Amino acid sequence: MSETNQTPTQDLSTEVAIIGGGPGGYTAAFRAADLGKRVVLIERYNALGGVCLNVGCIPSKALLHAAAIIEEAKSLGTMGVTFAPPQIDLDQMRAGKQAVVNRLTGGLAALAKQRKVQIVTGEGRLEGPYQLSVETAEGRVNVTFEHCIIACGSSPVRIPSFPHDDPRVLDSTGALEIRDIPARLLIVGGGIIGLEMASVYAALGSRIEVVELQDQLMPGCDIDLVRAFEKVIKPRYDRIMLETKVSAMDATPEGIKVVFDGKHPGEATYDKVLVAVGRRPNGQSVNAQAAGVTVDARGFIPVDGHLRTNVPHIFAIGDVVGNPMLAHKATHEAKTAAEVIAGLPALFDPLTIPSVAYTDPEVAWMGLTETEAKKQGIAYEKGVFPWAASGRALGIHRDEGLTKLLFDPQTHRILGAGIVGVNAGELIGETVLALEMGADMEDLGLTIHPHPTLNETIGLAAEMAHGSITDLMPPKKR
Ligand code: NAD
Repeated sequence: MSETNQTPTQDLSTEVAIIGGGPGGYTAAFRAADLGKRVVLIERYNALGGVCLNVGCIPSKALLHAAAIIEEAKSLGTMGVTFAPPQIDLDQMRAGKQAVVNRLTGGLAALAKQRKVQIVTGEGRLEGPYQLSVETAEGRVNVTFEHCIIACGSSPVRIPSFPHDDPRVLDSTGALEIRDIPARLLIVGGGIIGLEMASVYAALGSRIEVVELQDQLMPGCDIDLVRAFEKVIKPRYDRIMLETKVSAMDATPEGIKVVFDGKHPGEATYDKVLVAVGRRPNGQSVNAQAAGVTVDARGFIPVDGHLRTNVPHIFAIGDVVGNPMLAHKATHEAKTAAEVIAGLPALFDPLTIPSVAYTDPEVAWMGLTETEAKKQGIAYEKGVFPWAASGRALGIHRDEGLTKLLFDPQTHRILGAGIVGVNAGELIGETVLALEMGADMEDLGLTIHPHPTLNETIGLAAEMAHGSITDLMPPKKR
């Protein structure tokens, strides 16, 4: 357990009280403290970091790293290098993952201490427009504040008819515990969490099936990217059932019996089932109404561009204010809220918030998607560079990728980008900067990217749109 500041037993009065110590909450706390504010940060768990650090982004990436190496080791056969099948010590894998988490949460506790941010460990709830209470292990602590930031996050959606209390029915937190390697694992929900955990368990040796309600995996992502991703995962998984619903799930002694409805009707029994069908905001959990703060029917807290709720001295940030529920959205909102409270002229107004699935291969996109452009009738030009023509991608035997850029046909400014392939999540950052800086096709094409790299596929995709490509035949002008 990481070191946290001593939780006080007496009542407190502060300039800024923050409910929730995830990436949104701790970032807001640190920025507000750096701007000279006295800050109290309330977190129900002993460690700071919220879902992202403790049971989300960070531990999943530690496991995905192991999965990627296992898959890569297998693929080295084409280079004449073969390894014995991996021996997996799950206790050690869990410990290795936890060590990463502990280092980060320990670092946060130290940073909070250096900034004199007062941490109170316990459930916080608003009691009035300027008061909240915290149920700590030592008893109730009342906190009065001038400003409050609600950063209480989100929770996995549970489907009431599913036997969620059975230990064989997992949510993302349970899946990250890797208690065992189930022989047959069903993933309910072909979104980011489901597919990331599928990558982990498939590499560890589970047979995977995925069931998804909609007509494609990763809804919201362009279909050409999803197809390139599917080409890799389809041979690895037993079944991917699209447009299919789980109509019943029963815990039986033999396993979890599941009935499917829709395009793939039938039933099957699995050793474990991961339910990853989205997350819902925790807006109802902090008694926001006591302070007069509006919480909508779904549990979101509406805010303006300054992250202010309908009560001007109370702010909300992160998953609880709306989609996308991503840590990198929360941290930026957090800085805006802290700066507005400190009297700075800040506004949360990004041109885009990138999405990344850290699957194998990774899928990343930002800005306008082709699907959205078509839906909204937005004109665009497109440049697509297939990684089969990238020397670097061939060198690492990963030619399934593609890099796609969308441009405004008039101004040639970048509108959006999508990348599928190893390290897509790292590569997408350049395109986000390009969009924020108003870069155009020529800027990207004329930027000298190092060769041979995967990031040069961004310049090459711009050349495809421009017609100046020489690595391939230029596409015919429309
Ligand atoms: P999601 O919304 O990404 O995906 C859920 C999927 O489940 C959707 O495709 C949906 O169509 C499907 N679905 C819903 N009900 C279903 C049903 N009854 N049967 C079958 N399919 C069903 O949600 P998630 O994967 O649970 O992730 C939750 C949140 O966490 C998201 O906001 C996501 O962006 C975020 N997250 C992000 C990352 C990342 O950035 N790498 C990683 C993990 C989670």
